[in-house]
Amino acid sequence: MALKVVVVGAGVVGAACAFHTASAGMDVTVVDRGPVGAGTTSRGEGNVLLSDKEPGPELALARLSRRLWDEAGRELGPDTFELEHKGGLVVASTTEGLAALGEFAARQEAAGVRIEPVDRVQDLEPHLAPGIPGGVHYPQDAQVQPVLAAAALLRAALQRGARLHKGEVAGALTGRGGRISGVRTTTGDVLHADAVVNAAGTWGGEVGRRLGAPVEVLPRRGFVLVTEPLPPMVRHKVYSADYVAGVASSDAGLETSCVVEGTRGGTILIGASRERVGFDLTMNTAVVTRLAAQACGLFPFLRGVHLIRAYRGFRPYCPDHLPVVGPDPRVPGVVHACGHEGAGIGLAPATGALVTAHLLGRPWRGADPAVHTGLLPDRFLIPGGAPQ
Ligand SMILES: Cc1cc2nc3c(=O)[nH]c(=O)nc-3n(C[C@H](O)[C@H](O)[C@H](O)COP(=O)(O)OP(=O)(O)OC[C@H]3O[C@@H](n4cnc5c(N)ncnc54)[C@H](O)[C@@H]3O)c2cc1C
Repeated sequence: MALKVVVVGAGVVGAACAFHTASAGMDVTVVDRGPVGAGTTSRGEGNVLLSDKEPGPELALARLSRRLWDEAGRELGPDTFELEHKGGLVVASTTEGLAALGEFAARQEAAGVRIEPVDRVQDLEPHLAPGIPGGVHYPQDAQVQPVLAAAALLRAALQRGARLHKGEVAGALTGRGGRISGVRTTTGDVLHADAVVNAAGTWGGEVGRRLGAPVEVLPRRGFVLVTEPLPPMVRHKVYSADYVAGVASSDAGLETSCVVEGTRGGTILIGASRERVGFDLTMNTAVVTRLAAQACGLFPFLRGVHLIRAYRGFRPYCPDHLPVVGPDPRVPGVVHACGHEGAGIGLAPATGALVTAHLLGRPWRGADPAVHTGLLPDRFLIPGGAPQ
C-alpha cells in the first residue's frame, strides 16, 4: 500500500515536497489554511543562487536543487514558471573586497560551483557604475517566478494523484509509540497519514509545536522594491560582494545589501533588506530609501527611474541560517522541511527530493551525503511536549 503523507503548507517548499512524494508513488494530501503560494513564496524574488552560499550542506542542497529545477523545467515546461538561466554577477567595490571575493569564489569552485573571474564588469553589464575593480560571474545562478513555480509543482503533484485540502492544522493524531497518525484542523477535519511533512515556512516553528515537535524558526523581514517597466537594462542578477556577509549575519538590526535584476515584464527588482522585528508588516520608508540608494550606486541610471511599489515578507529564519530538513526524533513520522530563510525558492526542489528520500529510507540519487545529515532537526531541538 502507498505511504500516506500529509504535507502542511502549499508554498513552494510544500509544493516541491508534494511533487516529489507523489512522483515516488506516495498518497499525498497538501493542507494549507490559505491560497497556494500566498505565504512567503509570494514575497520573494525568485533567485536560484549558488553564488551566495558557503561550501557546506546548504551549498550541496543548492547544487542538487539547481539540477532539479532544470529537470522540472524539462518536464513541466520552463515557461510555466519563467525559469531563466541568466547567471549572477557579484561585484566588489574595492581591490581588497575583490581579493576576498576571489578567495570565497575559489572555495566555492573547489566545492563544484562554476565561477568566472571578471576584470571588466561593464562587458557583462554595460550600465554598471564606473570604477568597479572587478567581480565574479556565476553562470549557474538562475531565476524562477516563485508563485508560478509553486503552482506548477503542485499542479503536477495533483496530476499524479495528490489532493489539496483547505484548512489550518491545529494538532496531531498519534498512535502506538507516539507515532503520528495524522492531523486535525481548526474546523475539526481529520486527515490520516503515516507521515506528516512540516512545510509551513516561517510558521514551521508553530506547526512543529502543534505536532509536538517544535523547531526554532523565526521571522526575518525583508523588503523588495519594484521599478516601472523598462527596456532590458540589467542582464544578470547583480549584487555587491558584501551581500554574502549580510545574508550570513545573525544581527537582529536592519541590514541592507542589494541585489538588482530585471524581469520578463520589464520591471527591475531591487532586494532585499533583513531585520528581525517579529511579524510586523509596517511600511518603513527608511529601508526603501537605503535599498534604493544602494541600487543607484550600482546602476546610476536608476536615479531617473520610478519605483512603483515595495512589497515585504518574512523569511523563515533559523539561528544557524540552515533549513531544517529531515525526520524529527521526538515524534516518529514527523518530517520537517522549513526554515529556508532567504533561499527557499532556490532550495525547494532539493528539499522535496530529500524529504522523499527520508520517507523512503534511502539516499537521493547523486546527492552529496552532507545534505542528508547536515540539515537534520536534531542539531537544535527545543523541548517538545505532547502533540496538541
Ligand atoms: C523579501 C524576500 C526576498 C526573498 N528572495 C528570495 C530569493 O530571491 N530566492 C529564494 O530562494 N528565496 C527568497 N526568499 C525566501 C523565500 O521566499 C522563502 O524561503 C520561501 O518562500 C519559503 O517557502 P515555504 O514554502 O517554506 O513557505 P511559505 O511560502 O510561507 O509557505 C508556508 C505555507 O504554510 C501555510 N501554513 C502555515 N501554518 C499553517 C497551518 N497551521 N495550517 C495549514 N497551513 C499553514 C501558510 O499559509 C503558507 O502558505 C525571499 C524572502 C523574502 C521575504
